[in-house]
Amino acid sequence: MGAISVSGLGKTYPGSPPVHALRAIDLDVAEGSLVAVLGPSGCGKTTLLRCIAGFERPDAGTIRLSGQVVSGPGVDTPPERRRVGIVPQEGALFPHLDVAGNVAFGLRGLGRSSAAARVDELLELVGLPGLGRRRPDQLSGGQQQRVALARALAPKPSVVLLDEPFAALDASLRSSVRSEVASVLRSTRTTAMLVTHDQDEALEMADEVAVMRDGTIIQSAPPAELYRRPVDVATARFVGDVVVLPGEVRDGLVECSLGTLVAVASAGCGAVPVGRVTALVRPEQIVRDDASVRRASVVSLAYHGHDALVGLRHESSTFLARWSGVDLPRPGDEVGVRVSGPVVVLPGDPPAG
Ligand code: ADP
Ligand code: MG
Repeated sequence: MGAISVSGLGKTYPGSPPVHALRAIDLDVAEGSLVAVLGPSGCGKTTLLRCIAGFERPDAGTIRLSGQVVSGPGVDTPPERRRVGIVPQEGALFPHLDVAGNVAFGLRGLGRSSAAARVDELLELVGLPGLGRRRPDQLSGGQQQRVALARALAPKPSVVLLDEPFAALDASLRSSVRSEVASVLRSTRTTAMLVTHDQDEALEMADEVAVMRDGTIIQSAPPAELYRRPVDVATARFVGDVVVLPGEVRDGLVECSLGTLVAVASAGCGAVPVGRVTALVRPEQIVRDDASVRRASVVSLAYHGHDALVGLRHESSTFLARWSGVDLPRPGDEVGVRVSGPVVVLPGDPPAG
């Protein structure tokens, strides 16, 4: 059993109509791992974290932390006894306390000198040594988030919950702060659950990504497995660009407009389905090969420096390819293309639209 183990969790907010924020959520977070819960705004991520932390009472299901039931029939352990650290969206540092005061906030049981030593140790850990006397408004957004992480870790919680902790940061800061936070969590072997609507963040940081939609977990898998073998078209689109094509499977091969390709089953199917299928091709699988008989014309180009998304038309379909920015074709050019690697197939025709 995981350090966090949630089963059959349900939460409905009253109202007309009532909001079913969580519907039978099952989720396990292994000791020392980082799980990202990835879903669009409003799908129930914050509600899930608040239930685990004890700020919200679920209507159904059980929550265990380190094997101990903290929420379930007849049990509702108060938040302060759950040993959960929280990093909220906007840091939410106490503005009237300096950095050291913020980090020491959860250390009330410790004597003054041990608390001071622990604060120094944590500021060192998050890369902010010597900044204890600063006020929160004298720090950058990224530094504030690192202080919020130090504050959450200070009382040595058994798990840390992070609620969209990088959402308020500039894009340029976000990627460095998130890799720093991930490395602090890993070096301290902290069990962590991060909720986010940002697929890059989830794929980059997490050991396991749980995709959430409308209050349920749709798929839970390591990042590469989720990206390569999504359970449905919506999940495939949610974690990246994808070319969706109708096809027909025979003998483990799928015939579609891009050729006869090796088919693999999605994570939701035990075996490769037969007959009519939906093939999912990632844009980086479409390679330029001017020797290929399959010709396509370039209809658009979105240039990103290191690479570009190239819009191609082949027969009656248009699709995207991701090509290196080193040597790009121009709109109007005709190129040869082929698909590299196996493609995921889902049973049935592509969904409309
Ligand atoms: P997320 O964090 O994924 O954006 P939330 O957990 O905040 O999602 O919200 C899930 C759903 O529950 C939303 O439809 C939201 O409007 C609703 N909701 C959240 N908190 C409350 C509340 N206190 N009272 C009523 N509805 C709420
Ligand atoms: Mg939220």
